[in-house]
Amino acid sequence: MTGGFVQGTLVPVLYLGSAVLFVLGIKGLTRVRTARRGNRLSSLGMLLAIVATLVQLGKVDYRWIAAGVVVGGVIGAVAAVRVAMTSMPEMVALFNGAGGGASMLVGLSILWLEVIEPGTPRTAASVMNPDSALSTALSVLIGGITLSGSVVAFLKLQEKLLPGRPVLLPGRHVANAVLFLGALGLGMWAVFGTSDLGLMGAAAAGCAVASLLLGVGLVIPIGGADMPVVISLLNSYSGMAACATGFVLNNNLLIITGALVGASGIILTKIMCTAMNRTLVNVLFGGFGVAATTAAAGGGEYQNVRSYSAEDAALALEAAQSVAFVPGYGLAVAQAQHVVRELADLLAERGCKVSYGIHPVAGRMPGHMNVLLAEADVPYEQLLEMDKINPEFKQTDVVVVVGANDVVNPAAEKQPGSPIWGMPVLKVWEAGTVMVIKRSLAPGFAAIKNELFEYDNTMMLFGDAKKMLQDLVAELKQAAAA
Ligand code: NAP
Repeated sequence: MTGGFVQGTLVPVLYLGSAVLFVLGIKGLTRVRTARRGNRLSSLGMLLAIVATLVQLGKVDYRWIAAGVVVGGVIGAVAAVRVAMTSMPEMVALFNGAGGGASMLVGLSILWLEVIEPGTPRTAASVMNPDSALSTALSVLIGGITLSGSVVAFLKLQEKLLPGRPVLLPGRHVANAVLFLGALGLGMWAVFGTSDLGLMGAAAAGCAVASLLLGVGLVIPIGGADMPVVISLLNSYSGMAACATGFVLNNNLLIITGALVGASGIILTKIMCTAMNRTLVNVLFGGFGVAATTAAAGGGEYQNVRSYSAEDAALALEAAQSVAFVPGYGLAVAQAQHVVRELADLLAERGCKVSYGIHPVAGRMPGHMNVLLAEADVPYEQLLEMDKINPEFKQTDVVVVVGANDVVNPAAEKQPGSPIWGMPVLKVWEAGTVMVIKRSLAPGFAAIKNELFEYDNTMMLFGDAKKMLQDLVAELKQAAAA
């Protein structure tokens, strides 16, 4: 193979194949059924990208590459195998941070390599071309924000070194604005403004430090429970940083993948914001999560709550032709996914139509319920998204709400002024009977009263979700045997 063919044809073809695989991978991830395949396609795309880059570079010291592959591969594999499903947001935060940190370091090292050579003094832009110089500054800026913001998000979720609650420092908005303008100004000055190498190095370092501080300043006011939205946003930032780095390195694939990650991260952030009834501006300017905490005051007393036993509930289930399960955060806490499936199977055996209503922000991370139910091998076709199942509730005999609260709260539709007013919810109250399994009348994440518990067609089944579902299974088995 001639060098011309390798560089002119083979490398671009490998890069193109890799980009196509990334696009197909992301498309696959949009559906539960195709998600695993999507993941595999993206991994293959990554492998092609690495091979193409190594071929393009030609002479490299493969010992370093091999060491990196082994160390990174072992860390990634061990982390992926050992991570608990509920700790996934922490792991994603760390991975985002690593992406942002890599972009920041590439930006700084390119500046160093390109400019710090003996010769006549010049600005970075005169050496690199203005576009690359601008991208270098942006790589450092966005990469720095992503790195420190992700580390803070990780620590807040861990609640060891940092508290999970919002830390609201006085004057934080002004401080963040100053840091942003400072980081931007220093970055621009480093690449465009000075031909003095010492000053340029100092400005670049200043840009990195200000960006790192800005990442802390942006994420620290946000409550730990809101972190999944922030992590999704930081994921988008890491994509933007990678995209900027792609311009620095003149690498089209990095530009494409960075743009894919940046766009998909921002789309997911938007979906989560809509589903949680928050605006993107809220997220961008930080400080949210406070609403949920302060809303706790609006708890309110309950009247007319009817509590039933598993035996009563089993009678209603036996008579039902159609049953929909609506899982929420309590299902994850109780680890009741296997027993919910067992109950659903028993009902299906009796000829009952079974489905599951999945709210986009049920639980504490995107896709939380899908992952849990997939773990219990619930058939994909039984999982119905909110828009699909909402019109069906009117024809459903029984809805069993398992540890969900906010995502089935009618206040979102019926109480203007409620903190969740306008949030799209699962209209379970439209079904014939609603069974709510939870341990008490305690509120959910939004810390507000849920009048569903007082509705005439609601049966409250107080207890741990797993235990209550096991009791229901036992009752149904007993009835079948009798
Ligand atoms: P939720 O509103 O937080 O309510 C969960 C309910 O589960 C609680 O009321 C609790 O009541 C019950 N529960 C806890 N442990 C239980 C157990 N062992 N057995 C039975 N019940 C148990 O949950 P959700 O309806 O899933 O709503 C999710 C909330 O989280 C939304 O407000 C959403 O905006 C927010 N959020 C979601 C994400 C995401 O990405 N999914 C991210 C951040 C925030 P008891 O204590 O009485 O049992």
